[in-house]
Amino acid sequence: MRKVLKFGGSSMANAQQYAKVKSIVEYDESRRVVVVSAAGKRYQEDHKITDLLYLCHAHLKYGVSCDAVFEMIARRYLDIERELGLKTNLEREFAALRDKMDEGITEDELVSRGEYFSARLMADYLGFTFVDAAEWLLFNLDGSVDKETSYARLRALAQDKKIVTPGFYGAMVDGSIKTFSRGGSDITGALAAAALDADVYENWTDVSGILMADPRIVEDPEPIARVTYAELRELSYLGAQVLHEDTIFPVAERNIPLNIRNTNDPAHPGTIIMESFPNDEGEDDHRFITGIAGKKDYVILSIYKKGFSSQVGAQRRILEVVEEHKLSVEYTPNGIDTVSLVIPGKQFEKRRHSLIAALSERIEPDRIDITENIAVVAAVGRKMAFRPGISGKIFAALGEHGINIRMISQGPQEVNIIVGVDGKDFANTVRVLYNSFVK
Ligand code: ASP
Repeated sequence: MRKVLKFGGSSMANAQQYAKVKSIVEYDESRRVVVVSAAGKRYQEDHKITDLLYLCHAHLKYGVSCDAVFEMIARRYLDIERELGLKTNLEREFAALRDKMDEGITEDELVSRGEYFSARLMADYLGFTFVDAAEWLLFNLDGSVDKETSYARLRALAQDKKIVTPGFYGAMVDGSIKTFSRGGSDITGALAAAALDADVYENWTDVSGILMADPRIVEDPEPIARVTYAELRELSYLGAQVLHEDTIFPVAERNIPLNIRNTNDPAHPGTIIMESFPNDEGEDDHRFITGIAGKKDYVILSIYKKGFSSQVGAQRRILEVVEEHKLSVEYTPNGIDTVSLVIPGKQFEKRRHSLIAALSERIEPDRIDITENIAVVAAVGRKMAFRPGISGKIFAALGEHGINIRMISQGPQEVNIIVGVDGKDFANTVRVLYNSFVK
């Protein structure tokens, strides 16, 4: 059994957090591969090391001294080294880095050092082997990851050893350092898990999993115990803050379970993400809804024309006009002689006049109605499929709270039920659904 663990910035912020990481890793013999972020914030007003490194590079670029910022960065790691009683000797490494900065260093290389120093310290602290990401994670010239080579290299380097490797960066063929976009250590972790065919990819952060609803709207929402990739896509599309698609891909491809965990509450099981759950029973089994998410600022464009339903190609012609205006249509809840299109408000606004003019001319509708400021809210859940009465319950709950439903959409896979409501009812809709289905 081999588990790959990735620890985010808040788990690496100071010596106390390092100690938590150590006890988590040592708790389970199969936790053999550790990927780390740079040190994050210790408290709200604190700075992330990666931000400071970017700032440092900006100073270099404009020929301004970055000594003060560099000192803050070095101090943070040297403090951790000292407080944990380690003999990594980062002092020497910082001096070498300072020299390199004077000679000229690329932005990618400089900002990658946060992860590098984190990993060096963590490897010493855990007594694991340090494996530099530049030695295994290889980028193609187009910026994508050369998975085949990277996987083979990591397998050869790791073998059966217990290792720590830095997140966020790798190397180009010429050996120069290249980073992912911000937050990229999650991708490194997923790649390592895929390369080593891990039994699970544990992503350790500072929340106990993905929440069922936005905590800015619902007070203290519960974390989701288990979610499929399909559900996650639905939730993240509608604005839920979950892992980036690139992150998930390497592990999803190999159906490796991804477990989101909380370093500050290691006993909490967190959220497990998988392609499917064969025995879909668990504590949350009584729940049909996995999560609730939504977005504001949509426009519903309704086009009426007598006899539309019997005209072949009417929808296609409308969609053609919309496509020419480069608008994305998110839902199409239609009536007999009506075609309705749900379009993101900002996009619509830019092309409103030419779109209406083109539709009037080419479709010759009897009427076009524009309903603005619509919010779309989705109740997402694989367990809703083919279970009668769920939509009824949703509509009844909203009705009881005086929320007027302006649009309804449900795909045949029944992974979600989507309602369009007035923008002013957005937060209340999320709360009513949460309270009716989760509490
Ligand atoms: N340290 C990098 C960042 O702040 C990468 C990461 O933490 O995932 O974006």
